[in-house]
Amino acid sequence: MLNKNKNQEDINARIEELKAVQEYLANIENEYNAPFKRVYFEISGTCNAICPWCERGARARKLLPPLPPSQSPTFISLDTFTHRLQDLLQRKIIDSDASIHLYNWGEPLLHPHFNEIVTITKELGLSCGISTNGSHVFDNPPDLSHLSHLCLSMPGFSQASYDHAHGFPFENTIKNIKTLILTAKAAGCPPSAIYIYGHIYRHNQHEVPLLKKFAKELGVTLQLCAANFNAFTFFTEYLQGKLPPKTLAKAKQDLFLFDPEKLKGLRPIDYQCPQFNYLTLSHTGKMSTCCGTQLGIKEEYEFLDFDEYPNLSLKDIYKMRKNSPACVHCQNNSLDWLVNNYDKVIDSSLASE
Ligand code: SF4
Ligand code: SF4
Repeated sequence: MLNKNKNQEDINARIEELKAVQEYLANIENEYNAPFKRVYFEISGTCNAICPWCERGARARKLLPPLPPSQSPTFISLDTFTHRLQDLLQRKIIDSDASIHLYNWGEPLLHPHFNEIVTITKELGLSCGISTNGSHVFDNPPDLSHLSHLCLSMPGFSQASYDHAHGFPFENTIKNIKTLILTAKAAGCPPSAIYIYGHIYRHNQHEVPLLKKFAKELGVTLQLCAANFNAFTFFTEYLQGKLPPKTLAKAKQDLFLFDPEKLKGLRPIDYQCPQFNYLTLSHTGKMSTCCGTQLGIKEEYEFLDFDEYPNLSLKDIYKMRKNSPACVHCQNNSLDWLVNNYDKVIDSSLASE
């Protein structure tokens, strides 16, 4: 009799738990009825850097297979760019509060009509964001007063560090970064919107003071981030213990890794990936699964053509993405939690600096 009562109590407790999760999910779904405030729009389907732990760089270094022809280096056309943004505004999938981040896995300043792209966002009443590797400078920049951010990524502060990652001549890149910052400020970009994003690897930790000094001299904010895999392919193989031994040895040398065993149980059961708050578009104007999307896989990189779904609602987008094979795989492997919570698992204190 005692056992029977205990079983009933357990069942009741489980029912209450499930009700709480259901209620939580219903509330979350309501949140996804609001227009997107952040859009990653890949304007350049290519990057000239060769960072080894990034999907683009790893392919350039032949550490990953080449991309299929549909993703071969190309740039979005001005017509497609304008049409897609006008269409999203009209459908209320985005509104005038949206910031269009003109990058994902590509270098935006390589786009031959970069200035026109920036001007189009302004004319549509949107703000835009730029993240660049510093290999190019602005060519007679347009009005940049609507920039939400200008982010300059730096993989250290020496030629050796640049050889390890971007593969650019250091002195020239430093010169470019200074020019970019000064030109952006002169073109109206608010100084508070300019950041240097310092990627800290195991081998360049001693360069942090140099990066701090450089950012201070230029009057911009420095954000440090501990380098980790920048490709779902590497992450998945690492978590499953399937990284080839040579790659694993190099990763241990370069990156701030974490113990996959310790990851188990850290992801809350009701965790909602924050990426669902953002919209990601490929350089053909199609929707991608997320900004961390796996290049080379059509179902992730070019997940949906808006023109084929004229009645698509915000809720549909959320549901389609959440139930897509890529997201299901990602959630089942706790990758969604991991890529948004490195600072809680990595072997480094840099993330809090
Ligand atoms: S991390 Fe950025 S700069 Fe480096 S290869 Fe990838 S996209 Fe290019
Ligand atoms: S669950 Fe994974 S693949 Fe899906 S949006 Fe989040 S991070 Fe991206």
